Amino acid sequence: MIPVAEALDRLFALTTPCGIEEVPLQEASGRVLAAPLRSSRAQPPFPASAMDGYAVVSGKPGDMFRVIGESAAGHRFDGSVGAGEAVRIFTGAPVPAGATRIIIQEDVIRDGDQITLRDQLDSSTYIRPAGTDFGPDSEIPAPRLLGPNDIALMAAMNIARVPVRRRPIVALISTGDELVMPGEQPGPDQIIVSNTFGLHALLRDLGAEPRLLPIARDNVDSLRIVFGLVEDADLVITIGGASVGDHDLVADVAAELGMEQSFHKVAMRPGKPLMSGRMGSAMMMGLPGNPVSAMVCGHVFVAPVIRAMLGLGAAAMPTMQVPLAAPVGANGPREHYMRAVLGPDGLVAAERQDSSLLSVLGAANALLIRPPHDPARETGEIMRYLPL
Ligand code: AMP
Ligand code: MG
Repeated sequence: MIPVAEALDRLFALTTPCGIEEVPLQEASGRVLAAPLRSSRAQPPFPASAMDGYAVVSGKPGDMFRVIGESAAGHRFDGSVGAGEAVRIFTGAPVPAGATRIIIQEDVIRDGDQITLRDQLDSSTYIRPAGTDFGPDSEIPAPRLLGPNDIALMAAMNIARVPVRRRPIVALISTGDELVMPGEQPGPDQIIVSNTFGLHALLRDLGAEPRLLPIARDNVDSLRIVFGLVEDADLVITIGGASVGDHDLVADVAAELGMEQSFHKVAMRPGKPLMSGRMGSAMMMGLPGNPVSAMVCGHVFVAPVIRAMLGLGAAAMPTMQVPLAAPVGANGPREHYMRAVLGPDGLVAAERQDSSLLSVLGAANALLIRPPHDPARETGEIMRYLPL
């Protein structure tokens, strides 16, 4: 049995970043930028008006100007403004040569082609100098998980195609004679595959491309057949059959198919029978079958592995600290990821911590992390947790 931190290190040692592909801008949100991007232009490309009003050289209350033309967005005024002259201007329009400020239209009385400035003038110039937002050499650094705001910025920079990491392909294999798919009619001794679907959702959220393989039954032939369907996956995840009971055949069949095992068993709760290794060109992770164990291993181990494959670096998922809102008892020798609810007063660990209870996991929004042999803790003590 190895500690969680060592298991993570060994997982990262098995991980290689995926290759790079180019996608159109509309497909880039949620992807990881693989190389820095440089703008080829400035924004705005010219001094631009920030308001609707009149462009003038200078002005004080009571000054009068003759309106000599108009500058609209997309249609500049060809000419310059001199003393006693004003150009009608709109937001986003190029500021005409000679003008140093925009008098907003609210501060102006207009009469034909004459304007008079009102008593209370706003002091701002309302001119956005060229390159205020970004210059021609501005850079978006990589790696970076792109979101809608990045997409808007890249569009403004005139970047139409984006180099991103290929989504890691993850084959998900459920194992068990007792399992049927959601929507099917279970027999009297059967249950529904659950954590595989939870992991599928987690993987999609992480930016991977999960593939659900058929359920492998608890016999060597069935496992061989399903492993044979893996094809070009970057990561193969099996669920269940990973402890050493009579029906836990995953490790045996994986070894027979050439898996070089890196570890088997981690000193944690839930999730002890986690294993990993390399299988041909793919990485393999064997997750425990208990629904909560599998999901916790998903959050603690699969998520950082996917982030590493996406080029986001090899690091544990970020944890946070918060006071306890209720006491917890002493922990045993394994690191414990307790299902907990973070409320306004702090963390409360769920009363029932059995690793089969998906309803408790579903109600939790945090995993309270208890180091090995952590003593009993009182309300108010600061604890580390993993947000869910
Ligand atoms: P195992 O690791 O195969 O011994 O499974 C441990 C427990 O988890 C058993 O109660 C299984 O029925 C259950 N289990 C295994 N795989 C799944 C799955 N994909 N979805 C839901 N429950 C599962
Ligand atoms: Mg099983």
